[in-house]
Amino acid sequence: MSDIRLVNLTKTYGEGNAVSEINLNIGEGEFFSLLGPSGCGKSTTLRMIAGFIKPSSGQILIGSDDVTGLPPEKRDIGIVFQNYAIFPHMNVAENIAFGLKLRKRNKNEITWRVTEALKQVGLAGYGERYQRQLSGGEQQRVALARVLVTEPRILLLDEPLSALDKGLREEMKFWIKDLQKNLGITTVYVTHDQDEALTMSDRIGVMSKSKIVQVGTPQEIYERP
Ligand code: ADP
Ligand code: ADP
Repeated sequence: MSDIRLVNLTKTYGEGNAVSEINLNIGEGEFFSLLGPSGCGKSTTLRMIAGFIKPSSGQILIGSDDVTGLPPEKRDIGIVFQNYAIFPHMNVAENIAFGLKLRKRNKNEITWRVTEALKQVGLAGYGERYQRQLSGGEQQRVALARVLVTEPRILLLDEPLSALDKGLREEMKFWIKDLQKNLGITTVYVTHDQDEALTMSDRIGVMSKSKIVQVGTPQEIYERP
């Protein structure tokens, strides 16, 4: 199971809470967005789920596992950030193969998985290219392929479209949504863009000043903003 449960999740910096007492259940296979203005605590929440930041209090459960104290590599998650961090000194195939090599998969398996991942993100034939030969959208596809190739239980996306221009953002929005549905992977998507959240999500958690203030389907959120 790969549902996510956040229980009284809190992160305090100095005197203030970046995240206050968040309680949330995200279903297996669900596309869940955290929506809210800059500084409301979305990224901190996502980074706690990823294991990059330790909660001040509360718990994070993935399926039946309490992962609260586990390091990122023990959580079986994939994460993609705004600034597609693909390694410039490696070609696309090597970038995608990176996590598999770390996991000591054999060469045959790596080759077919890289080929499959390239197809999955619509970049068949791009294996030999380098970052400078790719558009922003293509780089984000590589970043996604790089995390999906290891078949994580959970996909975390932190403003993955923010660095792209408007046309590309529109296109990628629908593409990511389709990919997520095809894979059925539990996904948490962080954005300040209401339109993105409404288009892509099964449900949305609206955040304001470190708290979740509303949870609902896009229709529910749209009708009662
Ligand atoms: P969002 O992702 O919604 O823009 P963040 O989660 O990045 O919001 O930040 C939430 C709040 O926590 C902000 O007020 C931010 O300034 C504060 N914050 C985030 N990281 C730190 C940190 N490392 N030290 C101190 N304050 C932080
Ligand atoms: P290695 O470092 O193992 O000699 P490379 O660095 O060239 O191999 O590539 C990394 C991995 O990606 C290898 O396992 C290779 O099989 C695979 N690979 C390389 N190019 C492609 C491609 N165009 N399509 C699919 N897989 C590729």
